[in-house]
Amino acid sequence: MTPFIKSKLPNVGTTIFTVMSSLALENKAINLGQGFPDYPMSAELIALVGQAMNNGHNQYVHMNGLPLLRQRLADKINGLYDAQIDPETSITITPGGTYAIYTALTGVLQPGDEVIVFEPAYDSYIPNVEINGAIPVLIQLTYPEYKINWDLVKQRVSPKTRMIMLNTPHNPTGSVLSADDIEQLRHIVKDTRIFILCDEVYEHLIFDGLKHESMLRYPELFERSFVCFSFGKVYHCTGWKLGYCVAPANLMKEFRKVHQFNCFTCNSPFQFALAEFLPKQENYLQLGFFLQQKRDYFDSLMAQTKFRVIPSYGSYFQLYSYAAISDETERDFAIRLTKEYGVATIPVSAFYKNGQDNKVLRFCFSKKESTLLEAVNRLMKV
Ligand code: PMP
Ligand code: GLN
Repeated sequence: MTPFIKSKLPNVGTTIFTVMSSLALENKAINLGQGFPDYPMSAELIALVGQAMNNGHNQYVHMNGLPLLRQRLADKINGLYDAQIDPETSITITPGGTYAIYTALTGVLQPGDEVIVFEPAYDSYIPNVEINGAIPVLIQLTYPEYKINWDLVKQRVSPKTRMIMLNTPHNPTGSVLSADDIEQLRHIVKDTRIFILCDEVYEHLIFDGLKHESMLRYPELFERSFVCFSFGKVYHCTGWKLGYCVAPANLMKEFRKVHQFNCFTCNSPFQFALAEFLPKQENYLQLGFFLQQKRDYFDSLMAQTKFRVIPSYGSYFQLYSYAAISDETERDFAIRLTKEYGVATIPVSAFYKNGQDNKVLRFCFSKKESTLLEAVNRLMKV
C-alpha cells in the first residue's frame, strides 16, 4: 500500500505564474505574464560573480549572510530610510524574497492566529499563512483604486490578530502606500501585539516622483516589522533568487531559528559580488525612472487598443480592464489571448481566494521596447 499524504494545502494548485509561463512557451507567445525582465543585467555584476568564484569564494559563508554584504546593506538602508539598522542582529540574507516572507511567518505564527491579508494578494501569502495553521483574514482593496479601506481593517482586527501583511509597491496592482496609510496603520497597531510583514521587493520601482513608504522609515512601525527584499528585482536577475529580511533583533532571533535549519546559508560567490556592487548607488537610484519610461511607453502603445488602463504607480506591472472587449472570465480570456493572439498575461482573479473577477489582466512591462511593441501589435487585433 502506498502511503497517503493528508495535504497541508488541500486547495492549492500550481501557481498561476508557472501555468501562464508554460502556456506562453507552448504557444510561442510573448510572455507579459510572469514578472521578469527580458533585457540583460549588468555585465559588471556578472563579472564580479566570476571573479568571486575564481578568487576561491566557493565555501559556506556565515549563516546570516556574508558580513560585508550585510554591512553594505545596512549602510544603504540607513542612508536611504534614515534608519539605524545593525547588520549583525537585524539583516539576514535569504534565497529570495518569497523565502524571507515564509520564514518570517513561520517564525511568528501559532495555529489559530489571524493574519490580515489584503486582496488581490501576491500568490504565496495565503498558503504561507495556512501552512502554519493560522487563519487569513481577507480584506479586499477598493476597486479600481486598489486602496486599503482602513475602517474595514479596524472592524476586522480582533484579539487573535497576530500580523498584518503589506506590500508596497504592490503586486499585481502597482498601488503604493501613502503617508496617510502609514498614519492609519500606526494608529491601528499602537498598543497591540500585532506584527507587520511588509513586502518591499519593489522598493526602487516607484514612479511619478512618489516616495517609497518603507516600514524602515518609522521606528514605531519597524519595532514590530519584518521587511522583505529581493536582489532579483533590483539588479534585473530574478533567476538569482537572492534577497534579505530586515527586522529588529528580537524578531530576527526567531527568524534565524527557522532559517538555520531550512536553508542555513545562501550561495557565496553571488554575495561577494553583490557586496562589491552595492555601493554603486546609481544602479538602484535610477531604477524608478528606467521602469517609469517602460510603463509610459507601454501605456502609450496600449492606448491604441480596446483595453482600458488602471494606473500603476510602482512595480513591474500594469493592470488593464478588458470589460469593453469580452465578458469571459479573466482566466479564460487570458488563456485565449495566449493561444489565439500570442500574448501571455496574468488573470488578476488568481490573486483572490474567492476568484473575484473584475475583467482585469496584469501585464508585465519590464521588457525591451521591441517586445512591448510586438505584444501591442498583436493586442491591437483583439
Ligand atoms: N513578493 C512579491 C510581491 C513579488 O512580486 C516577488 C517576485 N517574485 C517576490 C515577493 C519574491 O521575490 P523572489 O524572486 O526574490 O523570491
Ligand atoms: N513575482 C513574479 C510575478 O509576480 C513571479 C515570481 C514567481 O514566479 N513565483 O510575476
